Amino acid sequence: MPSIAIVGGGMAGLAAAATLSRHGQQVTLFEAGATLGGRARGFYYNGLQLDNGQHLLLGAYQQTRQLLQLVGVTESTVLTRLPMQLHIKDLMGKHHFSLSSNPALAAPWSILWGLMTAQGIGFVERWQAVRWLVWMRLHHFTLQHDQSLMSLLMTHQQSPAMIKWLWEPLCLAALNTPLEQASAQVFLNVLRDSFAKNKQDADFLIAKTDLSSLISTPIAQYLGSNNSQVNIKTAIETIQPTTQGYTLVTNDAEYAFEAIILACGPHQLKNFAKTLPKLHRLTAHFSYQPITTVYLQYPAQTMLPKPMMGMVNSLSQWVFDRGQLCHQAGLMAVVISAHKPFTLTQNELAVAVAKELAALFPCLSNVIWHKVITEKRATFSCDVGLSRPENSSPYPHLWIAGDYTAGAYPATIEGAVRSGIQAANSVMAAR
Ligand SMILES: Cc1cc2nc3c(=O)[nH]c(=O)nc-3n(C[C@H](O)[C@H](O)[C@H](O)COP(=O)(O)OP(=O)(O)OC[C@H]3O[C@@H](n4cnc5c(N)ncnc54)[C@H](O)[C@@H]3O)c2cc1C
Repeated sequence: MPSIAIVGGGMAGLAAAATLSRHGQQVTLFEAGATLGGRARGFYYNGLQLDNGQHLLLGAYQQTRQLLQLVGVTESTVLTRLPMQLHIKDLMGKHHFSLSSNPALAAPWSILWGLMTAQGIGFVERWQAVRWLVWMRLHHFTLQHDQSLMSLLMTHQQSPAMIKWLWEPLCLAALNTPLEQASAQVFLNVLRDSFAKNKQDADFLIAKTDLSSLISTPIAQYLGSNNSQVNIKTAIETIQPTTQGYTLVTNDAEYAFEAIILACGPHQLKNFAKTLPKLHRLTAHFSYQPITTVYLQYPAQTMLPKPMMGMVNSLSQWVFDRGQLCHQAGLMAVVISAHKPFTLTQNELAVAVAKELAALFPCLSNVIWHKVITEKRATFSCDVGLSRPENSSPYPHLWIAGDYTAGAYPATIEGAVRSGIQAANSVMAAR
């Protein structure tokens, strides 16, 4: 009987499969979609490889970077590494905020220097932000009780301007959750890992290719050359417990396995409720946040002043210049996180975003085509005190993996990879 099945070919499932294969285990991975990658996948559009959403990785994504290394990917050829820099413009005025870490200094001084010398905000406010970070570091970035990030910022006298220019954009980018409901502890975990250890941890890493070419294709090739099997377009409809393990049922076949890692999204656990009713209860209390990415193609010579820029008092939050980042000249990717449902059609939204960009960057005036993608359940809502399930499940020989399981990170590629590796290690420990 084949030994281990992995259901779901997103980052968690792929990381689990690669880890098991590396240790000589025979793995069969099932992915319902036509491509691997789940919520981080590429697709072909208008002659270009795009992603279902513009992603940003951090230097602190240790396990993701190790996974890429394991499957033979050379980081510098596939990722653009930018030292941490924020350049943010205000649609409502002429204000501009910028903060650059100092590459000559070690962590945490590189970022403290950046805060102290930030442009567009007063000295007292910068000092309060530095004082808060130092206080957090002294307390090992650990709170006695979780609270909303907004309430923590207020307790530490962070000014409305500092919140608007710095903390809110960072919270939306990292947790995809509004400040008033975002878990301060999870935000501090990200700050700790990015700012407090090595200065390169705060670097931004941006794929030079689409995410499938970056991550899933090399992992699939690695699995293939290690006797593991990958089945795409194969949705598992039922998981039937048996005396020796589980039978996985698709629309036209049945497969028997000794152990399973269920690496589908948190809301997808309910699909197995008929035979495994306790699974759904693990995540029934979760809620979700959307992310919309608006791709706007301009003439090839069009460039932003910086490869990545933020915006406030606007619908648009971040714009990535894919010409500078991944050789797609003139293509901008605008990210709108944790937004309310739009009343605009996709066309109207693209026009509205293009108008904002034209107002902030006069060189962005002539859109050739656009593509809007909304992922309604892009991430779980990383709310205060959210209880997240462990990798072990209420059923024997069945583990769960995904960005939502218990861990320090919000819903991110790194969170999913860590969860997949941890689930794989648990499977091996139990054999
Ligand atoms: C638009 C967007 C932007 C994002 N930006 C960032 C970012 O900048 N940085 C960052 O780190 N993270 C970002 N994220 C989050 C990151 O993409 C996710 O946290 C991560 O990809 C989740 O991986 P996962 O494996 O846990 O789950 P998923 O990717 O959801 O994988 C689950 C897989 O299981 C499959 N599946 C489900 N049911 C079945 C079944 N019955 N049979 C077979 N297969 C099944 C699904 O098709 C899917 O492929 C973003 C996400 C989105 C959507």
